Amino acid sequence: MSKLEDIVSLCKRRGFIFQGSEIYGGMAGTWDFGPLGVALKKKIMDAWWKYWVEDRDDMYGVDASIIMNPRTWVASGHVATFADPLVECKNCHGRFRADKIADGITESVTTTEFHNLHIKCPTCGKEDWGDVRKFNMMFATRVGAVLPDDTGEIADKSIAYLRPETAQGIFTNFKNIVDTIYPSLPFGIAQQGKAFRNEISPRDFILRDRECSQMEIEYFVHPSDWETQFNKLLKENHYFLENIMGLPASHLHDYEVPANDRAHYSKRTVDFMFDYPNSTEELMGLAYRTDFDLQNIAKESGKSMEYRDKNTGESFVPHVIEPSIGVERLFLAVLSSAYTEDEIDGSARTVLRLPENLAPYRFCVSPLLKNKPELVAKAREVYQKLRTKYGNVTWDDSGNIGKRYRKQDEIGTPKCIVIDFDTLEDNTVTIRDRDTAKQIRIQISEL
Ligand SMILES: [Zn+2]
Repeated sequence: MSKLEDIVSLCKRRGFIFQGSEIYGGMAGTWDFGPLGVALKKKIMDAWWKYWVEDRDDMYGVDASIIMNPRTWVASGHVATFADPLVECKNCHGRFRADKIADGITESVTTTEFHNLHIKCPTCGKEDWGDVRKFNMMFATRVGAVLPDDTGEIADKSIAYLRPETAQGIFTNFKNIVDTIYPSLPFGIAQQGKAFRNEISPRDFILRDRECSQMEIEYFVHPSDWETQFNKLLKENHYFLENIMGLPASHLHDYEVPANDRAHYSKRTVDFMFDYPNSTEELMGLAYRTDFDLQNIAKESGKSMEYRDKNTGESFVPHVIEPSIGVERLFLAVLSSAYTEDEIDGSARTVLRLPENLAPYRFCVSPLLKNKPELVAKAREVYQKLRTKYGNVTWDDSGNIGKRYRKQDEIGTPKCIVIDFDTLEDNTVTIRDRDTAKQIRIQISEL
């Protein structure tokens, strides 16, 4: 088994991630987070919010609707260009992304170019392709009580989309925030939430799913100040990923996106690439987007997006730098950095060396024996005390102590505390460290 398969297996066995709608045979590109997974995911998202919003004076949060006025996606360009090249095998009717079927094919591949490559269908082995067509990846839905008319058609004006990114919920609130908070430049608006992409072929576990969570910031700057602020955000993102998320710096690579691969309006984009167990993939992006989005909104809405500087009196449309990260991609990066197989006293074990601030449980509390009421009562007392103080504490009195330790190692609990007969005498407990497996005795009051 590859390391990724080991991680997928651990995720299922210990209740981190399940296949979406598994009981009905699943739903491609969807995943459900179980008790341990939702705890880790929430800690990742809360740590991001604390670092980027709560601990700073220049960031403001929003939580916009998932369903937005469809004009949003006209202005942003998603209706026209958020599309992948789709090709269908006429023999087995399998549908594929033309640019992912073999190496060296670009997203703009034409039907003739594709046919000239003489690629065989990955499913049936035949070479019998239809045209390469553009497939828009937005999920369309109907809003309101819509019924077909006499001809059986449903009016197009009822069509809305599930948002394909959280960023537009930020841009469309730019004016609201300027008019209510009066922030000074530079300042940022942050949002976390679900985004939806109808991927032609979802794959790679949670790396390419149809429903994901994003954490995005639009950082508004004076046009003359963009380079300074870009470099600052670059450093701060590295600090967050390495020091708060615990990702090894050696697995992170800045990729300067070359001019011909960047959006036409962007003067600089850096993709943060991460060495996942099977491949190196984009973890997050940092993009200078100029005033592209605000100008498009001004055009589509007819409202001015100008910002007036309180000190200089200058009026202008701010430029923006966008750090954007997918929660699932970060989740898998954190998990694969933490996943370790080692040996303790000659026996193999699996351990998640999660940073203490991200571990689903910070402590596990156990009585040495579960059939001794006095040990159980004392252990309950310690458990309650720690839970009041730290919140995320778990109780385990199953099996023997060795088995409990293995289980807690696998779910990344940093410390296990055992209450034994000595505890009743002198108020000391055994505390065992996940990473070293070393045990020491300390006073309960020191916990
Ligand atoms: Zn086929």
